[in-house]
Amino acid sequence: MDFFKQAGDALSNLGREAGKQADMLSLQNRLGALEAELERTFAEAGKRSYELMRMRQMYDDETKMILGRVKELQDEMMDIRQQVQDLRSNQQPAAPADTDRHCAECGKVAADTEAFCSGCGAKLPAVEA
Ligand SMILES: [Zn+2]
Repeated sequence: MDFFKQAGDALSNLGREAGKQADMLSLQNRLGALEAELERTFAEAGKRSYELMRMRQMYDDETKMILGRVKELQDEMMDIRQQVQDLRSNQQPAAPADTDRHCAECGKVAADTEAFCSGCGAKLPAVEA
């Protein structure tokens, strides 16, 4: 067994997973920023429509620009959502976390409220909050 190679592989796997997590995080951050901008742009479009209505006009270049921006934002958001989905579906299904508390002596599952093992009576470590 080549310990160093194994350790290296394990590390690079960790690195890949961490990279995916980071990708996911930055995509979600970007999505959040886009959502906020979309909301602002919608508000702007609404305000603009109101002003135009007061001036008895229906549409102008600025409105067109704002609506074009809405479309761009929505397209980009759709793109990012797709990327997030792709990342999710590429992720290895996570092994179910073992959240059960076990007795160190006999391995019996212990409830969080138990201070002593119901199987062997050994003292159980305190539950961490
Ligand atoms: Zn036990």
